[in-house]
Amino acid sequence: MRQSARFREPAMDEERYPTEFPVPDLAPYRRGNTGIDYVHTFDAGKPGLHVMINALTHGNEVCGAYAVDQLFRWNVRPARGKLTLSFANVDAFARFSLERPANSRWVDEDFNRVWSADKLDGPGMSVELRRARELRPVVATADLLLDLHSMHLPAPAEMIAGPHAKGRELARRLGIPTFVISDSGFATGSRMRDYGGFGDPASAKNAQLIECGQHGERSAAEVALATSLAFLRESGILDASFFAAHPAPAPVPQRFIQVTHPILIKTDRFVFDAPYTGMETIAKAGTVIAHDGDEPVATPYEDCVLVMPAPRRYMKPGYTAVRLGRVVEPAAG
Ligand SMILES: [Zn+2]
Repeated sequence: MRQSARFREPAMDEERYPTEFPVPDLAPYRRGNTGIDYVHTFDAGKPGLHVMINALTHGNEVCGAYAVDQLFRWNVRPARGKLTLSFANVDAFARFSLERPANSRWVDEDFNRVWSADKLDGPGMSVELRRARELRPVVATADLLLDLHSMHLPAPAEMIAGPHAKGRELARRLGIPTFVISDSGFATGSRMRDYGGFGDPASAKNAQLIECGQHGERSAAEVALATSLAFLRESGILDASFFAAHPAPAPVPQRFIQVTHPILIKTDRFVFDAPYTGMETIAKAGTVIAHDGDEPVATPYEDCVLVMPAPRRYMKPGYTAVRLGRVVEPAAG
């Protein structure tokens, strides 16, 4: 029989939370120099990589906007190659409010599920597809992409390094943050970080998606900026003098986690048995972590890591409740 105690007690108000850092006004960045609004590319005029740092793939994930705004304020310019700074889903961001900060994630659909040729070249029409089609020529020429995100629930920052070894190796060289997640994305559509050469193991192109922390946390803004600095340092397109003024973070010991599979929601009565927010490690295999209707959901292996459990607003049949992962490094024992 169901027990009311089984229902997850919220650790926070998932819909109303403080935004602890200033959310920038993006109006000064509207007129880009690329012909695409809110996209700026600085070209050193010397050979080198094209590095792209992008914010607001999700319009409510404002820590990325904070970090990119700061990079603009520091007048970051490449000494070789090219640097693109961009704000992606600006139409969604236009709906952002401090009172309802969770409500501006997208307008018509998830901008981060449309990055495949079949959708971009297809007949679909949405605010997000239109914007992705605008950004596509820039994304397609980037050698290195850092996509800045944050999370609905408070959890440690995690780098989403994608399915290939090259992603893990880049995350290792960045040395930030502690948790590095290997995954192959979602059945519902392709992410920008997996587009074209980024998702091709034979390509030298590489991309990262960083989940910096809970959307409004001060630390999420700090992680977004620190990760951007580490990314720029690793890219090699800036002179050392920039980092003398704006030091990149020292590397930290990292944990590498391989996502094995998602837990898909079957009923409209999916509830976690504890207020999980993400990156919890469940030691014993067979531990019940949730119920989907009357069916218990148990961990399938030892030391199972819960990767980004869904907030209540996305607890719907067909959605992913949580992804499960194994710690692959450091090795157990
Ligand atoms: Zn996001």
